[in-house]
Amino acid sequence: MISEEEARAKILEMVRPLPARSSSILHVLDCFAAEDYFARVPLPNFDNSAMDGYAVVANSCAPGKRLRVIGEQPAGLDRQLRVASAEAVRVFTGAPLPAGADAVVMQEDVVRDGTEIIVNLDVDVGEFVRKRGCDLGEGQKILAAGERIRPAVLALLASQGFVDVPVGGEVNAAVISTGDELVNPGEPLQPGQIYESNSTLLRALLQTCGAHVRSAQHCRDDQDCLTEALKRNVIHHVVIITGGVSVGEHDLVQSVLRSLGAKIDIWRVAIKPGKPFLFGQIGDCVVFGLPGNPVSAYVTFLQFVRPAILKMMGASKSELELPKTLARLTVDLRNEGGRPHYIRGRLENGEFTPVGRQESHALFGLSQSNALLRLAAGESRKRNAIVDVEISD
Ligand code: AMP
Ligand code: MG
Repeated sequence: MISEEEARAKILEMVRPLPARSSSILHVLDCFAAEDYFARVPLPNFDNSAMDGYAVVANSCAPGKRLRVIGEQPAGLDRQLRVASAEAVRVFTGAPLPAGADAVVMQEDVVRDGTEIIVNLDVDVGEFVRKRGCDLGEGQKILAAGERIRPAVLALLASQGFVDVPVGGEVNAAVISTGDELVNPGEPLQPGQIYESNSTLLRALLQTCGAHVRSAQHCRDDQDCLTEALKRNVIHHVVIITGGVSVGEHDLVQSVLRSLGAKIDIWRVAIKPGKPFLFGQIGDCVVFGLPGNPVSAYVTFLQFVRPAILKMMGASKSELELPKTLARLTVDLRNEGGRPHYIRGRLENGEFTPVGRQESHALFGLSQSNALLRLAAGESRKRNAIVDVEISD
């Protein structure tokens, strides 16, 4: 059995980023930039008005001063107007600032009188003017290779006129669930049977990472079914098998993998829940064997599978970890065991409270949690301690 840190390091060493591709900005939400991106259009791209009002020469304004309105400049094509002292141009938000103007007076601060306005106040140079490049300069780095493309970043890419951008490769994944006792939702349950829920969990987790789930199938604890399912799915980048990775007579995953020539790099990791975890490869296909207990499958996915998939998608190192935050612990906690324990809890208003039964089968408790607290082997934390929690939701 290896430590959790060794397991993660080994997995990340074995998996490689997929080749980059160029993709439409309509399809790259939550992808990772394959190279540094630079601004080619400054923001704003020209000096413009921040208000509906009048473009003026600031030092020709004072309370009671009359200015002649010599034209109108809406947002859109630049009409190339020029303002001199004692003149004004009617402007609207986003309109290019006419030459000669150095400020905008809000329309609320003037009285219109035919072709003139009467200014009600002193005006400072630069007032209500958005200067070219004040937000973003041309050539400035807007995204580093390996950074995640979030909604506001997408908008920024659009503001630069980009249509396609280089991003990391797409990960195709398959899920195989195993177990004689499992029945697909929608079918009647016989005594002793339970509904198969891990493939639903894993599909959702894969989707949250940005991986594409190409297939999900269930196998009984049957050598032939498992062999066939694996053979069919090794065309994908990642296969996740859940259940059957322990040491019972019905746990066939290891032997089937070996019979298919798989290289098994990791089997059993010191982590709670999730000890019977497996990582290996069949040719170029990366295989994860996750425990059947739902909470174990969840925790091992987040700790081992998620970072591997993100790395394949081109994520930088800092993007591989779950987001973390500090929280005040609301109860005393102690990990009596010899393995790090991921406590499932509720993070709310800066406080972390464990929820539900802290056992690997307890799916309801898991469903109520939104964060994980890692307690190292033998570690105890007192109520009110400030702890670092991982946001799992
Ligand atoms: P295993 O890892 O196959 O020994 O299974 C451990 C526990 O997880 C058993 O109680 C199984 O019934 C349960 N389990 C295994 N696979 C699934 C699944 N796909 N959905 C829900 N529960 C499962
Ligand atoms: Mg089983």
